[in-house]
Amino acid sequence: MKEIILCKYGEIVLKGANRSSFEATLTRELKARAALYGDFRIYSSQSTVYIEPKSDACDLDGMEEAACRVFGIVGVSRAAVCDKTMEAILATAKAYLPDRLYGVRTFKAEAKRSDKTFPLSSPQIAAEVGGAVLSTVAGIRVDIHNPDVTVRVEIREGGAYVHAGQKRGAGGMPYKSAGRGLLLLSGGIDSPVAGHMMAKRGLQIEALHFESFPYTSEQAREKVFSLAEKLCAYTGQMYIHVIPLTHIQEELRDHCEEDYFTLLLRIFMMTLAERCARGYHCGALVTGESLGQVASQTLEAIGVTDSVVNMPVFRPLIGMDKEEIVRIARAIDTFETSILPYEDCCTVFTPRHPRTRPEREKVMAQLAKVDFEGLCNEAFAGMYTVKRSIYPTEQK
Ligand code: ATP
Ligand code: MG
Repeated sequence: MKEIILCKYGEIVLKGANRSSFEATLTRELKARAALYGDFRIYSSQSTVYIEPKSDACDLDGMEEAACRVFGIVGVSRAAVCDKTMEAILATAKAYLPDRLYGVRTFKAEAKRSDKTFPLSSPQIAAEVGGAVLSTVAGIRVDIHNPDVTVRVEIREGGAYVHAGQKRGAGGMPYKSAGRGLLLLSGGIDSPVAGHMMAKRGLQIEALHFESFPYTSEQAREKVFSLAEKLCAYTGQMYIHVIPLTHIQEELRDHCEEDYFTLLLRIFMMTLAERCARGYHCGALVTGESLGQVASQTLEAIGVTDSVVNMPVFRPLIGMDKEEIVRIARAIDTFETSILPYEDCCTVFTPRHPRTRPEREKVMAQLAKVDFEGLCNEAFAGMYTVKRSIYPTEQK
């Protein structure tokens, strides 16, 4: 029996004249993923991407799971393909569905005819297929209003498809359809979630991490790389730029008032991030800041850090509670890594009483006590880049 995977578009369907470029971006991402699971034919038609295995060696389970993590798709379903006759459809339903509905308690059957020449109406097809399920799947019941699984039959141009339910896709817009942004990635809970959220809106993500070696450890660095790797389950691959902050932090400690320390460090971070972003053609910065979460995330503090940057700063978590952020972190599997107890550069030399309502002039007066340009140049010169990827070899 021939089985295929169908992926339903999400928000792309609302696009007008430029819809085809979003479709092309989506299909490109799916093709890159599919190469990991075998030789597939991939094409789109009627707001659906079809993923057809070309041989029995294809790993359909793996492909289905991977498709659920491709942004731009809202639903992923497995379907058996058969001839467009009621006889073939019922035989396929009886042979294909029992295994796939194993353990399912309730279902409903639906049918859709894109091919209007088919002799039965949609309700008639649904009724017959529903009957076939009831007669072959032990213990299953019909529940029209709240079924565990909706079995669907589609009569399309190329054949009939018998679906065994739909899994939820990742949603959002196709990855790489919205330009490129630089994510300031710490080892915390928030920034990986922020990166995920912007990637979901189609923003291609590069990461920038600041470290304070040897005040921060090798394990702290590896933790950040692991977080980037977790994000790659959705993005495919990611570059991580690392900039050393050690000397900057020592200079701040030695020359500036302790209360301003965090904010001054953030000014360095944002300045270096913007420089890195421009170098790698990123049009925006992304941070995991949430209003009022810590001293450097008050309205006034964000105002000061924003004032040194001349590009958009996306803060997708700005209005979210920690609890909501944690829920997403768990769903995207970054939480357990984020809570590993390694220090971050922000926790090195932390002031006892950080300023929560900083005045810009006072901050800048403190900043004047160190060689801002010289330190930025030195830190930037120490930058290095690593890459994480789900692809075994360079695919693109
Ligand atoms: P997170 O949980 O994401 O680390 P946080 O609550 O610890 O955030 P801060 O330490 O104030 O808050 O950091 C705010 C944001 O600044 C982070 O979400 C991240 O985007 C960026 N940031 C902080 N530390 C680093 C770092 N070492 N490298 C890169 N970016 C960082
Ligand atoms: Mg942090």
